[in-house]
Amino acid sequence: ARDLQWSRSIVKPQEVEKYLDSQGQDFIDEQAIFRALEETRNPDPRTVRDILDKSRAIQTLTPRETAVLLNVEDPEMLEEMAQTGLEIKLKVYDNRIVTFAPLYMANHCVNSCSYCGFRRENTEMHRRHLTMEEIRREASALAGSFGHKRLVVVYGEHPLTDIDYLEESINAVYGVRVPTRRGHANIRRVNVNCAPLDITSLKRLREVGLGTYQVFQESYHRDTYRRVHGTKSLKADYRWRLYAMHRAQDAQVDDVGLGVLFGLYDWKFEVMGLLSHVRALESTDCGIGAHTISFPRLEPAHNAPLTRSSRYAVSDADFLKIITVLRLAVPYTGLICTARETRDIRNQAVLRGITQMDASTRIGLGAYSSGHQNDLGAIPSEQPAKGDQAGRDAYSQKEEEQQFLLGDPRTVEELVRDLASLGFISSFCTAGYRIGRRGERIMRLLRSCSEGNYCKLNAIITFREWLDDFATPETRKIGEALIQQELAGAKQRTPALHTKFLDYYKRTSEGA
Ligand code: SAM
Ligand code: SF4
Repeated sequence: ARDLQWSRSIVKPQEVEKYLDSQGQDFIDEQAIFRALEETRNPDPRTVRDILDKSRAIQTLTPRETAVLLNVEDPEMLEEMAQTGLEIKLKVYDNRIVTFAPLYMANHCVNSCSYCGFRRENTEMHRRHLTMEEIRREASALAGSFGHKRLVVVYGEHPLTDIDYLEESINAVYGVRVPTRRGHANIRRVNVNCAPLDITSLKRLREVGLGTYQVFQESYHRDTYRRVHGTKSLKADYRWRLYAMHRAQDAQVDDVGLGVLFGLYDWKFEVMGLLSHVRALESTDCGIGAHTISFPRLEPAHNAPLTRSSRYAVSDADFLKIITVLRLAVPYTGLICTARETRDIRNQAVLRGITQMDASTRIGLGAYSSGHQNDLGAIPSEQPAKGDQAGRDAYSQKEEEQQFLLGDPRTVEELVRDLASLGFISSFCTAGYRIGRRGERIMRLLRSCSEGNYCKLNAIITFREWLDDFATPETRKIGEALIQQELAGAKQRTPALHTKFLDYYKRTSEGA
């Protein structure tokens, strides 16, 4: 009853109503989405190629154009789309992949999401939240042992982990500094994945240095949303969640991350929902759109009634198509593919234009410093199925403490090597954010394809730092070869920046 009372105090109806249109409607027009998908079946190649040209010009597509791409079935045309997606990713972001790690702070939750192990009905879940001391230990391990610079901190929704806890825990992460081989390491950007907040709370998070604010809508389809979240839980309020990002931007939290949990409803509808959301954000006064989009697929979760076998399960081929269509529909946006997916799928996703990946991922509470889950992430010789006993043993995962089971146990080091073999450089850089390249500014740079130049140079420097501080000699060798290749390319592309850059690079290599 106390939880329910707390829940009621969270939602501020006026912070939803202010964003509705003059008819009191929100921006998800289901009938229009169904119509667009129906009317664009069997698209002809010329129409598709015209749309690809628009994506190449880094313009957000219309719902109709996106529906056309979703309806492409011809394998050759799909391949052409995938190639164009990669071309756009390289143009906007270059060959950088930003690395991060999730840090689960708590598994208390008042909600009843039928797909999640943290849901309140799961009485077998061992509930707890990290103390500030534990958070500092986790952040120390992440920064000091793995070399991570960016985290996404993850919370359930519960009075024990309210806004005061969010604030204090983020501060605790930023407060950690650990010695490394050549200097010190710390976490420089903390993104947050938590429940929808009100504007006052969002301002408080902005004050403590929140990076990207992520809230996934899970499903844009209202009946599905109701079916999987019930009617009584706090999360059951579709519009409170739908306008979380509008509130964030009102609170000057410019970088917002959208997402859908794929597998709950028809994936084509959900991609259209994401696109509608991006366009709604682009049309606000703030006008920035989405900083990132995430597209988790439903994974097996402890005691969760809804599993991947549901009728809306997304096949691997469709999953890769989702990535391609998102890359083309919102060409400037970061795309995050997490370790829920297997190594093989993530490697393919890289070639479709994703921009961010986690590594050395542990989602058990306190798992980075205790090492009980996925201890240093040795890759099993054969990938076992995630849901079976072999899978659990191979990754040493604790199902009764985790939200779901992971698919890719690669460490940062292993990811760095795999990315290098695909021709990509791992970026540990957070400089852009720290010098104010965020929000509207970063979006302008991304749309004009100028961001890649700055970030690439910073990526090389921070990669060098990471190699020196954390890599084994073998990985250092692979990394150094990649850097030499990048330096040659950078000289050609940005001769003016190159001389200044070489100076920084030399100083970094010498340990400055
Ligand atoms: N509690 C907050 C919320 O629900 O918004 C944020 C944290 S929740 C732990 C982060 C995301 O994990 C959810 O938004 C959902 O998309 C995803 N998730 C939940 N259960 C999942 C499952 N079984 N498989 C894959 N992703 C899942
Ligand atoms: Fe709670 Fe989030 Fe899990 Fe739903 S998805 S039960 S809100 S932690």
